[in-house]
Amino acid sequence: MTTLEELQDFCVEEIRRLSALSYYPSDAFGRGELAKALVKHADSIDHARRIVDAIIATCRQCPPPADIAVVAGEVPATTAKQAPPKRACPLCNGSGFRTREYTIERGVFAGEKRTEAVRCGCPPSAEPATVPKLDTRDPELAASVASAAARRRMQ
Ligand SMILES: [Zn+2]
Repeated sequence: MTTLEELQDFCVEEIRRLSALSYYPSDAFGRGELAKALVKHADSIDHARRIVDAIIATCRQCPPPADIAVVAGEVPATTAKQAPPKRACPLCNGSGFRTREYTIERGVFAGEKRTEAVRCGCPPSAEPATVPKLDTRDPELAASVASAAARRRMQ
């Protein structure tokens, strides 16, 4: 597990690799903005390294911060092979719920058929679709902390 501070420190160092490209900022504030963009868009130290690898491999000029965001979006956050998706449950089509028909037994509606939603209880060979994980990071906070860290570094 990488702390935000470790990621920031790494990104500040990693941005220096862009000095191999033309138009690398000679000004510390400019370099700080590049580091901030990398911290903001990198998911991990490994991701940050691969983003800079991609920039060095494809760019002749040092990109502006906005382009670092673009490259970061194109570099996968993880290189781990994705597990093959499990076959969606044929009963509930992966939703985890299906409808069940039942007959009302008592009262004025006795004998009428109704449907209700029930948990599917998918067979073990199938899995309900997974709910996507929410991104709980606070990008604004991360950016402001990153800029403070970058300023400290660049002094
Ligand atoms: Zn199911």
